[in-house]
Amino acid sequence: MKIQYLGTAAAEGIPAIFCDCKTCQKARKLGGKEIRTRSQAIIDDRLLIDFPADTYMHFLQYNLPLSKIQNCLITHSHADHLYPKELHMRKSGFANIAENSPLVFYSDKSGFDMISEIKKAGVISDDDLQVKKISLNTPFNVDGYSVTALRAAHADVTSPVVYLIEKDGKTLFYSNDTSEYPPESMEYLKTLKKPIDLISLDCTEACNNATYIGHLSLERCIDLRKTLIEIGAADKNTVFVLNHFSHNSKNVLYKDFVKIAAKLDFEVSYDGMVIEI
Ligand SMILES: [Zn+2]
Ligand SMILES: [Zn+2]
Ligand SMILES: [Zn+2]
Repeated sequence: MKIQYLGTAAAEGIPAIFCDCKTCQKARKLGGKEIRTRSQAIIDDRLLIDFPADTYMHFLQYNLPLSKIQNCLITHSHADHLYPKELHMRKSGFANIAENSPLVFYSDKSGFDMISEIKKAGVISDDDLQVKKISLNTPFNVDGYSVTALRAAHADVTSPVVYLIEKDGKTLFYSNDTSEYPPESMEYLKTLKKPIDLISLDCTEACNNATYIGHLSLERCIDLRKTLIEIGAADKNTVFVLNHFSHNSKNVLYKDFVKIAAKLDFEVSYDGMVIEI
């Protein structure tokens, strides 16, 4: 299984859209891996995760075959992960697709409601766009992948989830916009038959000392990794990737943070990064 990170920033992006802070100024100057767009990823070039406003930019930047992509998992309904207005462009006439198959979204309540609303308002047919409401802690099949949504610890109104994605004996855990998981999700993770191969963690706060619920810092990722190993959801072979960064975080520039993280045996995401497991 292959994951490509298309966007790796928190809501504002790095550089943040209206910001003059030192981090944003340096990021603009350095370019390359210092530029982080809003969060999105794709598995094996076919299963999309999240649909931010930067999807259009990712389509251009990575030559994404968006007209052919049939499935998209939504983590939650914050605008940096779901920008439903763009979905009007999937309607026949706006999109001319020779062999059209619908783009199917999977989401918990809030994202489901938003996409349903856009479908209704735009009179978008099921032939072009569909949305399915997911059930938590219950594996479902998406294009040959076994996908399980677990509740995330993030703004409740956005119906936040993290996803376990399994295929051919490999498991990937896409877990951002969450702090330490709620008890029901921890219970599920304890039941896994084997350790997860790749765990992508929220590290919005990087080297900040942040204690609030909703996002994690490096310190808290270290503790969470320990817990996941203790319960058998991970082991020494599990690849841990830190992802979803804010310009307001200390040492967050890639060139600085990657050195700090490497000493602790963490990978650091960047826009365009590909990892195979
Ligand atoms: Zn986010
Ligand atoms: Zn800034
Ligand atoms: Zn969020």
